Amino acid sequence: MMNKKQTLILYHPLMAMEGYPVLAGRVEPAFEYLRESGTLDAPEVFVEEAQDVPEDLLLSVHTANHIQRVKDSGYDPASLVSGGAAVRAGEAVWLGEAANAFAFTGCAGHHASRDSFWGFCYYNNSALLVRHLQQVHDVKQFFIVDTDPHPGDGTRDTLGDDEGVFHLNFEASFRERVDITSDRHVDVPFPSSSGDESFVEAVRRLVPPLARRSRAQMILWNMGHDAHAQDYGGFNLSLRAFPAMTDILIQAAAQVCSGRLVVLLSGGSEVFVAQHAISSIVRKLAGLPSLPEDIQDQPSTESNATKETARKLTDTVLQEWDL
Ligand SMILES: [Zn+2]
Repeated sequence: MMNKKQTLILYHPLMAMEGYPVLAGRVEPAFEYLRESGTLDAPEVFVEEAQDVPEDLLLSVHTANHIQRVKDSGYDPASLVSGGAAVRAGEAVWLGEAANAFAFTGCAGHHASRDSFWGFCYYNNSALLVRHLQQVHDVKQFFIVDTDPHPGDGTRDTLGDDEGVFHLNFEASFRERVDITSDRHVDVPFPSSSGDESFVEAVRRLVPPLARRSRAQMILWNMGHDAHAQDYGGFNLSLRAFPAMTDILIQAAAQVCSGRLVVLLSGGSEVFVAQHAISSIVRKLAGLPSLPEDIQDQPSTESNATKETARKLTDTVLQEWDL
């Protein structure tokens, strides 16, 4: 029988109150939408208030100078609870207290390197989760998929040397070339004009085989809804892409790591996109029926040239990796 406590949501009011303004404005409306739409009342869903990530864990990812600069920036309180949300999400899923988890953040993480930060990211939430599970629970293998349209440069900097971390990074780019630099790193420079069909198809073709290859014990999804056509980042997705990607991630996690999946909120600022993308993801995680209003916009369109470029890039990755 399914554990009634299926999906853990991590949240803290400081994320909205003290987060970086571009990202923080969506956080409370998105959380409140989960409440108003009844999702938080479902027995499959439970919420915890995120705690601050402890200083010794911060120091295992970032330099002391970096931590001081974050304190000086004023975004320390929101960054600490954002990191703490990721760490607790990972721990609860590892310990089986939840089947999967969604961590809200007030400051995203994937542009936070060991000793530098940019792009509304201060502490690397993925790296904090990974280091905690390595140090305290001896977890060895992680698969991180980043579908935020901006590159996961900070995740690569903090975890790139780690033999136990496989990093699949999608980014909006005109490069049209896949660079293979490591047997654990895949960067897919996808066309900015990619719509639902191309992007979801690439996730469907790449995530399951690469996750199997990684022998991951847990899958982390860095989810930026700035990939939506009406949000500020690259890609041209509609709301339909988010539950579709969630289905793929859930199935991959079921095949590879007993369903252990943690979703970390990354970029995005449009309130209606945040509300419906996050709602559709959380409801999939919890096994709840989808809400029609969560896919209320039109499916995105894309040119045949974009589809062709996207397909070739995906083919290249599959060939290079002999999949
Ligand atoms: Zn982004």
